[in-house]
Amino acid sequence: MEQLRRLWELQEVEHSIKQRERELQHLPSAEEYRQKKKEYALLERELEKKTEDLQGKRKELRRKESEVEQLSASVKELNSRLYSGEITSAKELESLEKKIESLKSNISKAEEETISLMDALEGEEAELQRLQEKMERDKKELLQLKKRAAQDTEALKDKLEELGSKKGELEGNIQDELLQKYRDMSRRSRGRCVSLVKEGFCGICNVSLPSSFRAKMLTPGELVFCENCGSLLVAGD
Ligand SMILES: [Zn+2]
Repeated sequence: MEQLRRLWELQEVEHSIKQRERELQHLPSAEEYRQKKKEYALLERELEKKTEDLQGKRKELRRKESEVEQLSASVKELNSRLYSGEITSAKELESLEKKIESLKSNISKAEEETISLMDALEGEEAELQRLQEKMERDKKELLQLKKRAAQDTEALKDKLEELGSKKGELEGNIQDELLQKYRDMSRRSRGRCVSLVKEGFCGICNVSLPSSFRAKMLTPGELVFCENCGSLLVAGD
């Protein structure tokens, strides 16, 4: 009697172990953490790319600015030559003036490009700032998720350890022969194979058992099986 009851308990403990092992593989908080981590890595790459892009544009802006400076210096130099009185040839003066005009037009073009670059930079800097702030928030969230996943994992592992020692204890208190029989039955059946009978009903298939079964179940050493589902019957409360 006691032996069969322990066997049923062992089956329940083993069932809990399997269930918790499955839970451990698909822990929602751990999965959420993994997902968030992936998203974070993507965001990190996006930020990297945008930062590189921004640096490129800043470099371009500096190049344009120095181009404007150089062109302006050239214009200044040519202007001073133009008004120095050194050049008297009308043809030479005209050519100098043309050159200055052409340089000035290049300056306007470069200045326009500078302005449009500055506008683009302003927009991208704001976007980068927004991304950086998002990353800060996500980083905190990620840490929280990591902590929660670790706590959940730890709790499940503790529970599994507890169940494991309970299982060991039960196995140590069940006769080898009966344990072997249970192992064989477990292998064959896909689910539970030890049924706790309550109020005359099989605990597994729920079929109503003949009253004669009760006496048989209570006979020491006798193994009684459900005629419907084939499970080993154990008298319940
Ligand atoms: Zn049954």
